[in-house]
Amino acid sequence: MEALNHLRRVGAHLSLRLLPPRCLLCGAPGDRLDLCAACREDLPGNAVCCARCALPLEHPAAQCGACLRREPRWDAAWVPFRYAWPLDRLEARYKFSGQLAAGRTLAELWAQRAPPAKPQLIVPVPLHRRRLRERGYNQALELARVLARRQRVRLRHDVLRRVRATQAQTELDATARRRNVRDAFEIRMASKLPAHVAVVDDVMTTGATLSECARVLKRVGVKRVDVWALARAPLPRQR
Ligand SMILES: [Zn+2]
Ligand SMILES: [Zn+2]
Repeated sequence: MEALNHLRRVGAHLSLRLLPPRCLLCGAPGDRLDLCAACREDLPGNAVCCARCALPLEHPAAQCGACLRREPRWDAAWVPFRYAWPLDRLEARYKFSGQLAAGRTLAELWAQRAPPAKPQLIVPVPLHRRRLRERGYNQALELARVLARRQRVRLRHDVLRRVRATQAQTELDATARRRNVRDAFEIRMASKLPAHVAVVDDVMTTGATLSECARVLKRVGVKRVDVWALARAPLPRQR
């Protein structure tokens, strides 16, 4: 079993399929992906949401109440899933346990869908170099690579740089999240940016991180910034 797991890990790294697909959630034979048809059915979609911030709603809307009260800095959001069972398990394994096969599966599920609008450039939310060293990979960049390849959009990971190591957003409420990421990013090579850019992250909660990225991109003249995330997490309670 150990040897088999090792093979799977090697396979994930090289994006090669050495073994027939097997569901990462229940172990049943996979349906092309490392996910069976039943578990795939269980993944929580986010089709009915606010077009501006992707907040799940009872009825689709161009803008939700929150967006009307405080207009987001970005122009549109594309977040095809909700961060709930069983997708949260795959995401946690990808992000915190180094299970790249889970990331590859999530990227594939995302890339099979078409974005509402095609940008000229895809930019992943960067990790601070210390976090990158700890984790070994930027989970947003790996997802963005697959999206960029599939949609034939250019990807650049050197546009945004995280200049401040920030506290993990999960421990904070909405106001503290905004404060936490304020001035956390810096732009490099602003002169070569096109008019329409999409910023990619793995999970979006209040959108504070993506908002800060949109702010710095717009400040250097990007006309339209879309935010893309794999999954929308429920909003944290105000403390
Ligand atoms: Zn399954
Ligand atoms: Zn909204």
